[in-house]
Order: sequence, then C-alpha cells, then structure tokens
Amino acid sequence: IFLGMLAGILLGTLLRALFDDSGDFAFSVFGLHVSTYALLVEGIFNIVGKIFIASLQMLVVPLVFVSLVCGTCNLSDPSRLGRLGGKSILLYLVTTALAITLAVTFALLVAPGEGINLDTSATFSASEAPTFSEVIIGMFPTNPINAMAEGNMLQIIVFSVLFGIAMAMSGKAGTKLGEMFEDLNKVVMRLVTILMNLAPYGVFALMAKLFATIGFDTITSLLKYFLLVLFVLAVHAFISYPVLLKVLTGLNPMHLLKKMRDAALFAFSTSSSSATLPVTLETARNKLGVRNTVASFTVPLGATINMDGTAIMQGVATVFIAQVYGVDLSVSDYLMVILTATLASVGTAGVPGVGLIMLAMVLQQVNLPVEGIALIIGVDRLLDMTRTAVNVTGDCMVACVVAKSEGELDIDTYNNPRAGSKEE
Ligand code: ASP
Repeated sequence: IFLGMLAGILLGTLLRALFDDSGDFAFSVFGLHVSTYALLVEGIFNIVGKIFIASLQMLVVPLVFVSLVCGTCNLSDPSRLGRLGGKSILLYLVTTALAITLAVTFALLVAPGEGINLDTSATFSASEAPTFSEVIIGMFPTNPINAMAEGNMLQIIVFSVLFGIAMAMSGKAGTKLGEMFEDLNKVVMRLVTILMNLAPYGVFALMAKLFATIGFDTITSLLKYFLLVLFVLAVHAFISYPVLLKVLTGLNPMHLLKKMRDAALFAFSTSSSSATLPVTLETARNKLGVRNTVASFTVPLGATINMDGTAIMQGVATVFIAQVYGVDLSVSDYLMVILTATLASVGTAGVPGVGLIMLAMVLQQVNLPVEGIALIIGVDRLLDMTRTAVNVTGDCMVACVVAKSEGELDIDTYNNPRAGSKEE
C-alpha cells in the first residue's frame, strides 16, 4: 500500500510537470483524437480511484450493523454497555480537547498569520452547522432503513445497539439469530480482507490523480500555517497518543503506532475516516486485539465523533485567521474555541473536507470572519489527508484504552508484531 502510494505520488507529480511544460500529448487511434491527460488522469486513475472508494464505502453500513449487533448481543451484562459508551465518549472528548489546546498553544507561540499579506477579499459561504440539541435528537432514527440508506452513522449505531440488546433478551430466538449474525460478520470481514488486497492499486490511482491535478501555488504563501498544522498533528500522534496509552494502560505504544500503518495510509489516501472504517475496525480487532464487544462499538463511534486531527487544524486556523484579520482574541475566546471545536466534532461525519464546514461554526462563535476560510482552502486537501490519518489513529488508541480497562483486550495479539498480517 505504501509503495502504491509513493508510486502514485511520483507519477502524478511527474505527469503534472510534464503536461504543464509541454501541453497535452494527444494522439490518434483509428481517426479518434485521444488526449493522454484525459485518458490517464480523468479516465483510468479517476475510474479506479472512485471504484476503490466506493467499494470501501459499500462495506461501512453492513459492517457496522452486523458487527455491532454481534458485539452487543454477546454482552453478558447490558449495564456494561452504558459504561463502555461513557468511557469511549469521555475519552474521545478529552483527546479532542487536548488536541485543540495543543494547536491553539503552538499557534500562539509561532504566530503563523502575523505579518502576512493575503488578499482578504475572497469569499466563502458557510453552510449551516447543526446545533448540539439537533445532533442529540438526530441520533435517534425514525426509520432504520432510511438511516442505513443515508449512511447516518450515529443513527445506525443507536439502532444496532438496541437491536442487539433486544436479541440478548430474547432467549432462544436471540441465540439463533445471534449465530446467523456471527456468520454474517465473518463474511463481511472477509470482504474487507479481499478489498485490502486490492488496496495498493486503488491507493496508487487515487494519489496519481490527486497529484496530477492539485495545485501547490498557494502553499508557499501559507507555508507557516501549513507546516504548523503538520507539526502539531505529528506531536499529537507521536507524543500525546503514546503517552496517554502508556499512562492509562501500561501497553507499549510502539505496537499501536506500527500497526496503525495500513489504516493511516487508507485514511491519508481517501481523506475520510468513514470510508476507512472497515480497515480501522480490522486493525483494532485483528492487529491490536480489541475484542469485538468493544471494537464494534468504540471504533464506528470514533469514526463519527472523534476528530482530533480536524480539531488541530481548526485550532491553528482560528489563530491564523484572527492574526491575518488583525483581531485580538481574549483568553475566554480561546476557551470558547476549544469548547466549540470539541463539540462540533461530535456532530460531523467523517468525509473529506468537512472540517472546514465545522471551522465556520467555530469562527462564528468568536466573531471572526467566516470568509477567512477562503484563505486556507487552497492547502486544505493535503492537510485533510494527514489529519484524517490522525483521526483514525485516535479512534484505535481510545479503543485499546477502553478494551484494556474492560478486560476485553487480547494482550498477546496486541504484543504480537505479526498479528493480523497475511503471514500470521
Ligand atoms: N476528512 C476528515 C475525516 O474524515 C474530516 C475533516 O477533517 O474534514 O476524518
């Protein structure tokens, strides 16, 4: 997968340079005029990449439903579910608040927006972000089939958990149905494995298309902002997570970081925690040893409500925009930013670019111009890819902590460097 990604980036960059310098290499076949650019970039890479993402997304709803029903109907004591949910949500909120605090602190120290002259006449129209009560009410589906059709993750989670609990309470009928769900679970997981085998080609196509089309012109004027976001993302992934994991569980964090590689690469190339969910779940279960009772609940929940990487971008972006527009924010404004960004990440789906929509909500809270988003939109794609990789790493870290505290972590699998790999 890594090689596929590298090859894609190289080829894409090369194609871009080539087409920029020498124009398109058009040729004719049987009198048909063919543009090499269109054939490769808009044709082959585009098609293969889109099919790859679609097939990942295709698995998300069945996977979450089936594995969560299995997870909850096997819980011996339903009150554990409340504890499990409480712990997961608390840890997700705490890690996100920590992420954004780090981001704001570093941004204030480095001052990425000071002394910068940007054209602030650009416009950006923010779409309405949902309010907190709308998010809570919206978690309960009026129609589960509709929730699945729309891929509404929180609603699917609520329905699956209730369904699983009812199964556990239904005696023989529940047991029979449970066996069927276990079989279904195996089949869906097999599909995930099949797809992962095709991943190098999919990732290659996605990267080649992206790097053949993406513009790097805006990066130079925003270099300080861009590098700062990357830096804080790295601090959170390589320092905060390992320290938290070590302190809370005593586990060796190096295993987590190494085993996250595939999921992080998927997240990087798809820019979507939601599309990466099948791989994140596979990593948590097979490589990290988080048992299904915890993984099936905590990981999909995390893909929806836990976005530490996104919060980091928002923290740096808020300070950056305030500095470019010359607005002084007070300490209480920054506390407001931390609170809003943490809560905002709960209600937003893990799809590409959604972090910017949430940023509008944060900016509005502290009366900063929402148009500021237009300044950073040019470099957001690459940051989106990187922060999504951090988002999914956070999901797995929290899953390990919750599983360890519940006695649902298979320590041997966690410590085995080859667990879940093909050779195993
Ligand atoms: N792409 C991110 C994710 O799916 C969300 C964002 O930051 O835009 O996790």
